[in-house]
Amino acid sequence: MKRLTKSSGNDGILIKSHTLQGYAHPIIDMSYLDPYIFNDDVKDNETNVQLFDNETNVHFFNDEETQVCHERYVREKKSENDTECPKEELKSESCFKETLQRESVLKSTITPECDHNKGYDTAEKKSINKTHKQINWTEYHRLSVIHSFLDDLEYDFPSICTVGVIGNSIEGRKLKILKVSNSNASNSAVWMDAGIHAREWIAPAVATYISDHIVRNFATLPTSMTNKDWYFHPVVNPDGYEYSHTVDRMWRKNRAWFGGQCVGVDLNRNFSYGWGGKGSSDNPTNAFYRGQVPFSEPESCAMRDILYKSGIPFQVYITLHSYGQVILFPFAYRDELCPDYVRLLEGATVMSKAIYESSGNTYKVGISRDVMYGASGTSNDWSYGKAGIPYCYLIELTSKKHRFRLPKEEIEETGRAILNCVKALMDHIDNKSKNDNDNN
Ligand SMILES: [Zn+2]
Repeated sequence: MKRLTKSSGNDGILIKSHTLQGYAHPIIDMSYLDPYIFNDDVKDNETNVQLFDNETNVHFFNDEETQVCHERYVREKKSENDTECPKEELKSESCFKETLQRESVLKSTITPECDHNKGYDTAEKKSINKTHKQINWTEYHRLSVIHSFLDDLEYDFPSICTVGVIGNSIEGRKLKILKVSNSNASNSAVWMDAGIHAREWIAPAVATYISDHIVRNFATLPTSMTNKDWYFHPVVNPDGYEYSHTVDRMWRKNRAWFGGQCVGVDLNRNFSYGWGGKGSSDNPTNAFYRGQVPFSEPESCAMRDILYKSGIPFQVYITLHSYGQVILFPFAYRDELCPDYVRLLEGATVMSKAIYESSGNTYKVGISRDVMYGASGTSNDWSYGKAGIPYCYLIELTSKKHRFRLPKEEIEETGRAILNCVKALMDHIDNKSKNDNDNN
């Protein structure tokens, strides 16, 4: 637990620590806020409750304030051309509050009458929860329900769950991720994303199914599952996802504008590795439009920043799509086999076998050229080729029969099968690295 350090003045600013971590983009050093951070357990400690009671100007930041402050910091960091670091500017409490005032969110939030014993937002959060629909896997959910589901997991399992926002979509929707971790320093990291293509509704449903299972069963999961830090990004393309719910069920791309109209960029052709090649288009109205330049879109940039620039040791990258019942691994942009073809093929085979044993469904494995079609500028190629993640897989979920419109009655079965496939892969990877170590 960190102690409150009152560096100057009378006002202390307390930030609920897991909220801060949630919004702290991994590449941004927010250590300058450390003196003002308390861990959640501080509220349960009697001494600290007293300390809070004596602090008349202590304020718990809510999520919105934390995010606004953080986003301002990111903007300043981006526009920073000289040596004057905004970090310094924000170091003092007064500047920090000034930042919030400029963003017009402070208003009456710093009040002398905070109810510290109750905590920052318990009552508020509970009332919000009541208005949200509970998630299940018997139907497809809108973005707000999925995002609330992530928040609820964090709320119910604060010791292992952290929700973060890694950016905003073109239309300003949050790019929300969930981290699940026992905070063991030796953990490697696993990334799972879904919904990069709007109409592939089964993908976000499976990602939430798997995250829910891991969180709720964490205590009884095998070590190969709990010695990983899990990062779930269930709706990579939130604008497109909502558009596919409200306007055009078959919408695929994001909601980028070009030439005075919203044409959309295929986010899975917008990554830099092999960008511009076959299986993508420079025609904005084409379904595979790759964008004007690599990483032209905020949704792909957000993924680039966390997967490549954060320093998180990702060992596995899994991206969920539909449909096709195939498990693909790099490369999709060229015909030549990648140097780790055998290792990737082994992992894919283990996954396919687990799906078959779980559901009876057959998933083909291989590279795009062989089992689907070539594609360039994909997140999967980039994660392997540029970000250097050893195990990178794209799973095209079911079904060939219903195409993108998988009946909701088949969501749970699909979720179960892919969960088992992920478990099998983790087990395989750990066994493989153990054998490798034994042989060395
Ligand atoms: Zn897709």
